[in-house]
Amino acid sequence: MRLFRTLRCKNCEKPTDFPSSILLGIERSPLRSSTGEPAIAIACPECKHVFPYIGSDLRLNHDDNPDQFALPGGKSVFAIKIQCDDMSCESRAEVRAIVENELSKKGIFDTKLPSTLPELARSWTLHDIRCAESHPITAARTINF
Ligand SMILES: [Zn+2]
Ligand SMILES: [Zn+2]
Repeated sequence: MRLFRTLRCKNCEKPTDFPSSILLGIERSPLRSSTGEPAIAIACPECKHVFPYIGSDLRLNHDDNPDQFALPGGKSVFAIKIQCDDMSCESRAEVRAIVENELSKKGIFDTKLPSTLPELARSWTLHDIRCAESHPITAARTINF
Protein backbone atom coordinates (compact mmCIF):
# COMPACT_ATOMS: atom_id res chain seq x y z
CA MET A 1 0.00 0.00 0.00
CA ARG A 2 1.18 3.52 -0.70
CA LEU A 3 0.17 6.65 1.12
CA PHE A 4 0.12 9.84 -0.90
CA ARG A 5 -1.40 13.27 -1.08
CA THR A 6 -3.31 14.52 -4.09
CA LEU A 7 -3.12 18.16 -5.09
CA ARG A 8 -5.48 19.77 -7.57
CA CYS A 9 -3.61 22.56 -9.33
CA LYS A 10 -5.15 26.03 -8.82
CA ASN A 11 -4.44 26.84 -12.47
CA CYS A 12 -5.01 23.77 -14.68
CA GLU A 13 -7.01 21.78 -12.06
CA LYS A 14 -5.13 18.59 -12.93
CA PRO A 15 -4.54 16.28 -9.94
CA THR A 16 -0.97 15.34 -9.04
CA ASP A 17 0.11 12.77 -6.47
CA PHE A 18 2.82 13.80 -4.00
CA PRO A 19 4.51 11.74 -1.29
CA SER A 20 2.80 12.15 2.08
CA SER A 21 6.00 13.84 3.33
CA ILE A 22 5.32 16.88 1.10
CA LEU A 23 3.80 18.72 4.08
CA LEU A 24 6.85 18.30 6.32
CA GLY A 25 7.78 21.69 7.79
CA ILE A 26 4.62 23.49 6.65
CA GLU A 27 4.06 24.86 10.15
CA ARG A 28 7.45 26.61 9.95
CA SER A 29 6.83 27.99 6.47
CA PRO A 30 6.70 31.81 6.39
CA LEU A 31 4.34 31.64 3.43
CA ARG A 32 0.64 32.30 4.10
CA SER A 33 -2.46 31.52 2.11
CA SER A 34 -4.96 34.28 1.33
CA THR A 35 -6.81 33.14 4.48
CA GLY A 36 -3.69 33.47 6.67
CA GLU A 37 -2.92 29.77 7.09
CA PRO A 38 0.63 28.36 6.81
CA ALA A 39 1.24 27.35 3.22
CA ILE A 40 3.93 25.85 1.01
CA ALA A 41 4.68 26.77 -2.59
CA ILE A 42 4.24 23.86 -4.98
CA ALA A 43 4.95 23.78 -8.72
CA CYS A 44 2.40 21.92 -10.85
CA PRO A 45 4.28 19.45 -13.07
CA GLU A 46 1.65 19.86 -15.80
CA CYS A 47 1.27 23.61 -16.33
CA LYS A 48 4.30 24.84 -14.29
CA HIS A 49 2.26 27.32 -12.28
CA VAL A 50 3.30 27.79 -8.64
CA PHE A 51 0.81 28.68 -5.90
CA PRO A 52 0.77 28.55 -2.09
CA TYR A 53 -1.16 25.53 -0.84
CA ILE A 54 -2.37 24.77 2.67
CA GLY A 55 -2.49 21.34 4.32
CA SER A 56 -6.14 20.74 3.48
CA ASP A 57 -5.38 21.35 -0.24
CA LEU A 58 -3.42 18.08 -0.20
CA ARG A 59 -5.89 15.27 0.37
CA LEU A 60 -4.45 12.14 1.98
CA ASN A 61 -5.09 9.02 -0.11
CA HIS A 62 -3.96 5.43 -0.26
CA ASP A 63 -4.10 2.67 -2.84
CA ASP A 64 -2.26 -0.48 -3.89
CA ASN A 65 -0.32 1.00 -6.82
CA PRO A 66 3.49 1.03 -6.68
CA ASP A 67 4.88 4.15 -5.02
CA GLN A 68 6.56 6.15 -7.80
CA PHE A 69 8.45 8.11 -5.16
CA ALA A 70 10.09 4.97 -3.76
CA LEU A 71 11.25 3.39 -7.02
CA PRO A 72 14.82 3.73 -8.32
CA GLY A 73 14.67 6.10 -11.29
CA GLY A 74 11.21 7.19 -10.18
CA LYS A 75 10.10 10.62 -9.06
CA SER A 76 11.41 12.78 -6.24
CA VAL A 77 10.25 16.00 -4.64
CA PHE A 78 12.82 18.71 -4.05
CA ALA A 79 12.58 22.02 -2.24
CA ILE A 80 14.28 24.75 -4.25
CA LYS A 81 15.22 28.05 -2.66
CA ILE A 82 14.56 31.13 -4.75
CA GLN A 83 15.77 34.70 -4.43
CA CYS A 84 13.42 37.51 -3.38
CA ASP A 85 12.56 40.13 -6.05
CA ASP A 86 14.36 42.58 -3.78
CA MET A 87 17.89 41.49 -4.64
CA SER A 88 19.24 42.97 -1.39
CA CYS A 89 16.81 40.86 0.69
CA GLU A 90 18.40 37.89 2.47
CA SER A 91 15.11 36.10 2.93
CA ARG A 92 14.37 33.15 0.64
CA ALA A 93 11.27 31.40 -0.51
CA GLU A 94 11.07 27.69 -1.12
CA VAL A 95 9.24 25.96 -3.96
CA ARG A 96 8.59 22.23 -3.95
CA ALA A 97 8.62 20.45 -7.28
CA ILE A 98 8.63 16.96 -8.71
CA VAL A 99 11.65 15.85 -10.70
CA GLU A 100 11.45 12.62 -12.70
CA ASN A 101 14.22 10.05 -12.86
CA GLU A 102 16.09 11.49 -9.90
CA LEU A 103 16.35 9.40 -6.81
CA SER A 104 16.82 11.57 -3.77
CA LYS A 105 18.46 9.70 -0.92
CA LYS A 106 17.56 12.18 1.76
CA GLY A 107 14.20 13.27 0.45
CA ILE A 108 12.71 16.72 0.10
CA PHE A 109 15.45 18.55 1.94
CA ASP A 110 18.35 16.94 0.12
CA THR A 111 20.99 19.63 -0.30
CA LYS A 112 22.27 18.22 -3.58
CA LEU A 113 19.73 19.29 -6.16
CA PRO A 114 19.33 17.81 -9.64
CA SER A 115 21.16 19.74 -12.36
CA THR A 116 17.92 20.00 -14.35
CA LEU A 117 16.22 22.12 -11.69
CA PRO A 118 17.36 25.64 -12.69
CA GLU A 119 15.96 25.08 -16.17
CA LEU A 120 12.73 23.70 -14.77
CA ALA A 121 12.45 26.71 -12.45
CA ARG A 122 12.76 29.10 -15.41
CA SER A 123 9.52 27.66 -16.82
CA TRP A 124 7.51 28.44 -13.68
CA THR A 125 4.81 31.09 -13.34
CA LEU A 126 4.62 32.28 -9.73
CA HIS A 127 1.39 33.38 -8.04
CA ASP A 128 1.17 34.98 -4.56
CA ILE A 129 4.65 33.80 -3.54
CA ARG A 130 6.40 35.93 -0.91
CA CYS A 131 9.61 35.81 1.06
CA ALA A 132 9.59 35.72 4.87
CA GLU A 133 9.66 39.57 4.84
CA SER A 134 6.45 39.52 2.77
CA HIS A 135 8.09 40.92 -0.35
CA PRO A 136 6.52 39.59 -3.54
CA ILE A 137 8.52 37.12 -5.62
CA THR A 138 7.50 37.12 -9.26
CA ALA A 139 10.32 35.16 -10.91
CA ALA A 140 12.06 31.95 -9.87
CA ARG A 141 15.73 32.88 -9.50
CA THR A 142 17.37 29.78 -8.06
CA ILE A 143 20.23 30.36 -5.65
CA ASN A 144 21.50 27.06 -4.29
CA PHE A 145 23.50 25.89 -7.28
ZN1 LIG B 1 -1.32 22.97 -13.22
ZN1 LIG C 1 12.38 39.67 0.50
